[in-house]
Amino acid sequence: MSSLYKFACFDCFVSFNRPAFKKGNNYTAWLAESELEYVCPNCGKTLAFMGRNFRSPKRTAESKWLASKLLWEAGFRYVGSGGHESETLPETPASARAFIKFTKHHAQKVGAVKNWR
Ligand SMILES: [Zn+2]
Repeated sequence: MSSLYKFACFDCFVSFNRPAFKKGNNYTAWLAESELEYVCPNCGKTLAFMGRNFRSPKRTAESKWLASKLLWEAGFRYVGSGGHESETLPETPASARAFIKFTKHHAQKVGAVKNWR
């Protein structure tokens, strides 16, 4: 099993596989926050911890990146093994905004609410 997690830059539209634990690893797919922080090698911003199952959209897929940013800011992480019964996270900004507004409980709403700046 991979011990790496996904960290993203919403300005550069890139993500990186990096370890999340200072020491060792428990291989959880449900990790909501990382112990370690990284900065984007392109722009120097602190990368957003996305969870283990984030699939990086293509760099040209701006609306998917924006949807992921909105979800991340609202506390959603790409956690789990796909085995939960909550809805799949949306991939467009408009559906993400509605989803965030109306989804109070979700298996992937596990992280802190944050602001990407
Ligand atoms: Zn960047």
